[in-house]
Amino acid sequence: MAMYDNHRPTAELQALDAAHHLHPFTDGDALNRKGARIITRAKGVWLTDSDGHQILDGMAGLWCVNVGYGREELARVASEQMLQLPFYNTFFQTSHPPAIALAAKLAQLAPGDLDHVFFNGSGSDGNDTNIRMVRRYWQALGQPERSVIISRWNGYHGSTMGAASLGGMKGMHEQGGLPIPGIAHIDQPDWWSEGGEMSPEEFGLARARLLADKIEEIGPSKVAAFIAEPIQGAGGVIIPPETYWPEIQRICDAYGILLIADEVITGFGRTGNWFGSQTLGIRPDIMTTAKGLTSGYVPMGASIVSRKVAEVINGSDEFAHGYTYSGHPVAAAVALENLRILEEEHIITRVREVTGPYLKAAWEQLTEHPLVGEARITGMMGSIALTPHKASRAKFAAKAGTVGLICRERCFANNLVMRHVGDRMIISPPLVITEEEISLLMTRARLALDQTLDIVRAEGLLVAA
Ligand SMILES: *Cc1c(COP(=O)(O)O)cnc(C)c1O
Repeated sequence: MAMYDNHRPTAELQALDAAHHLHPFTDGDALNRKGARIITRAKGVWLTDSDGHQILDGMAGLWCVNVGYGREELARVASEQMLQLPFYNTFFQTSHPPAIALAAKLAQLAPGDLDHVFFNGSGSDGNDTNIRMVRRYWQALGQPERSVIISRWNGYHGSTMGAASLGGMKGMHEQGGLPIPGIAHIDQPDWWSEGGEMSPEEFGLARARLLADKIEEIGPSKVAAFIAEPIQGAGGVIIPPETYWPEIQRICDAYGILLIADEVITGFGRTGNWFGSQTLGIRPDIMTTAKGLTSGYVPMGASIVSRKVAEVINGSDEFAHGYTYSGHPVAAAVALENLRILEEEHIITRVREVTGPYLKAAWEQLTEHPLVGEARITGMMGSIALTPHKASRAKFAAKAGTVGLICRERCFANNLVMRHVGDRMIISPPLVITEEEISLLMTRARLALDQTLDIVRAEGLLVAA
């Protein structure tokens, strides 16, 4: 078995990495001066690095390792499927059992009439599929001018040209000549940062109504769809006020536009139900899924599509779109086994009824810490806003992300992975995390916050903007 040079010294691996490896979403020079942290193995919620540290993974990799690391069943089905049928395509009127079984299983799990599946290789190309599909849908219905898709500033939908255009990350747009034509953005429902004097309820309604304003501005006959994450993930785990989604749903229904829920993070149990749409009471026409679909063991994405949309796509000429690896048999076999584990081990029920409430109680107590403003969590995705002054929900005078980065480094130093988005800290642990591991996560998070406060004070950063 190739263990890929686990035995090499860390410095040697770091030098090779610096010499040849271009990292995603990374300042390469800064990384190479410091040297990458090298993860060599993992089990359950625990990572091991090349120096032998045991690190609690509070992010489930990148929000994806829902069943935890080291599940032998997933390795076994991948191996068996590779020997039986490692690849065949699903173009040109062919299919194969793993893709068929997975499409049927997803149709059974998905809410409402979401009962057809288009397979992708990732979340990004899933959203590119969705752009193509909703435009094709309206074209087939004789309304080709209905092509604009509305999304949100600070939303994240992936990194391809299409997906990054749907996303509202201005830094990404600036580097790529984005967005592509036919995409429009509205402001996000982030009450802590942008709510001003409004109550969360008023603010949720106000931000939802921006969708109606934008549709009127563009012209209702030109708008194809609205896309959003039920809970924003990469934008900082922003849980919208309760008034937000019902109003968004009402507006989509009133204008007859399609609603795409980007469930790449919220799918497969993260919010305590199979899908975030169920937790937040949304009725999407299309759901983008990826990440937790295979618990990240192999790459795969799936657009889960309503019967209404599927009938129009099937009922018109060939939909000229697809990927070599759409429905890849090894990925589909792993996904099916992953779904079996989630279901038979009642992992999602445990998140909803036991570990989720346990984590929530501990997480919300973080507001007692001097640095923490709001602390919010749904299921196994949560965030805290760091602030120099809680009552006014103030931002730091220092450049956004300065304090967040200090806190992330203190987490790493205490063997905990917690990410920062600006000055918000976020967690999204594997769904199999136990109560004991949650307690440990909280102890380390508090320690990291205490140390961050000491550093912030010492460096004179505890100053409101
Ligand atoms: C990660 C993510 C994507 C992109 O998925 P990739 O597999 O990285 O292409 C899309 N949408 C959301 C909400 C995500 O979190």
